[in-house]
Amino acid sequence: MNNITRRTFNKTMSKGIGGATLLSAMPWACAMGEQKQDKKKLGVALVGLGSYSTYQLAPSLMDCEYCYLAGIVTGTPEKEKIWQDKYNIPRTNVYSYENFDTIASNDSIDIVYVVLPNSMHADFSIRAAKAGKHVICEKPMAVTVEECDAIIEACKKANVKLSVGYRLHSEPYTQEIKRLVDEKVFGNVQYISAEAAYRSGGNPDQWRLNKALSGGGALMNMGVYAIQSAIYGTGENPISVTAQEFSSRPDYFKDTDETITAQFEFSSGAFGNIMTSHNTNVNRMYGSCDKGWFELNPASSYGPLAGKTSSGDLSFPHERQQKLQMDDFARHILNDAPNVAPGEMGKRDMIIVKAIYESIAKGNSKIELKLGSMGL
Ligand code: NAD
Repeated sequence: MNNITRRTFNKTMSKGIGGATLLSAMPWACAMGEQKQDKKKLGVALVGLGSYSTYQLAPSLMDCEYCYLAGIVTGTPEKEKIWQDKYNIPRTNVYSYENFDTIASNDSIDIVYVVLPNSMHADFSIRAAKAGKHVICEKPMAVTVEECDAIIEACKKANVKLSVGYRLHSEPYTQEIKRLVDEKVFGNVQYISAEAAYRSGGNPDQWRLNKALSGGGALMNMGVYAIQSAIYGTGENPISVTAQEFSSRPDYFKDTDETITAQFEFSSGAFGNIMTSHNTNVNRMYGSCDKGWFELNPASSYGPLAGKTSSGDLSFPHERQQKLQMDDFARHILNDAPNVAPGEMGKRDMIIVKAIYESIAKGNSKIELKLGSMGL
């Protein structure tokens, strides 16, 4: 979006300064305006009707401008009628995991959004691509780098678009930090820290504590947010990582990592430290630059986020992040707007996750990374 960013556009519009004059000055905005009148909204089918679909994605789809909840795919037949009634979903748009592939012949479904346990992401994303549907795959993208490659390949082969459910790339505080870093508003970033953690309790049999289903513990779940913060907070991919693992409740975290710290080096000379845990509550990022600093706290919750810089507080209006995210992806499909969280970004993060586990397995060795500009 060239000179005027979507963030600036959203901010301007939310202040009520929009209108015909501003729109006519921006060709892409005119296209958006036309599309609103002429083009249908894209139909989204949610695969997996667990807590994220129930409490975040489905309600957000009610607010979306460019897509809507058109279908469901569930392994729990009792949920079908409840969802059909609540969201006015026709019987023809209800699928089980078994008959899911027949979604290929359903023209009212444009996007399949995979919201299942991590080990099921690759299978359903690939099946969705083969059915000719655009794909949003929840984070972490998959449980191995090879699976990420397979998803990317399947989407390329089917000529469908692919995005990872990284909602923060559509979120205004995060976008503002990216701008501050990209434009070097506070000079060069010298140090970045990021923590993404919550204290897990309850059912010890939940899939997040089962490595076969989750692929790993805190690192796979919240760690990807800390990795993402370290990257957008420096504007660079790391060139090395050194990691440590800690455990204070081994009886509860029998199968998955509880707490991990990791240090990154960046080619600019910046370095960073991340922490992720299923044992403590912390959610923030901080960047120290040669001419100032920035901070988000919280940095990766559902919002509203909050931010400060050495020049003052940040303040943006709050909208559901998932609404912004799904509309961004729909506009990517409809209008060729940028894909703010492409598959390569999810794959890059899995390469870093793998390197962190490798560092720990090798007694906290430094692991070199050769990511280039992947996912930036
Ligand atoms: P959940 O446990 O609430 O729901 C999981 C769903 O998968 C349920 O509907 C369950 O019936 C179904 N399922 C199918 N096979 C299963 C199996 N073998 N074991 C367990 N459940 C099975 O989980 P959730 O919180 O909705 O998370 C789903 C996905 O969404 C995960 O990949 C998670 O990382 C991601 N997520 C992302 C965000 C975000 O902010 N982007 C937030 C929460 C969850």
